[in-house]
Amino acid sequence: MKTFRKFYLTIIHFIGIVENMKVKKILVNRAKCNYCDWVIESQSRHHLNICGCGKFFVDGGQEYLRRGGDNYTEMSEFEEVEVADLSEYDRLRN
Ligand SMILES: [Zn+2]
Repeated sequence: MKTFRKFYLTIIHFIGIVENMKVKKILVNRAKCNYCDWVIESQSRHHLNICGCGKFFVDGGQEYLRRGGDNYTEMSEFEEVEVADLSEYDRLRN
């Protein structure tokens, strides 16, 4: 018999949000698992990092915040960057 565990997946895209010509850039993609207290960080886009108890992961690097789990504390750091036009915004992605 198969058992299914409840699991929550959250993906927050910050690239794509341009408000008053300001872009919120991810500097550090990091969060803490509230079950085992491990603080884990995703250092690049496809760097999926799993905590000690296996109930939580972070992913996405500086591109987006991808979270798996139902009990965690966000610890990411951001920087607001002002852009003159959308081509400059596109340049920030790379
Ligand atoms: Zn954990």
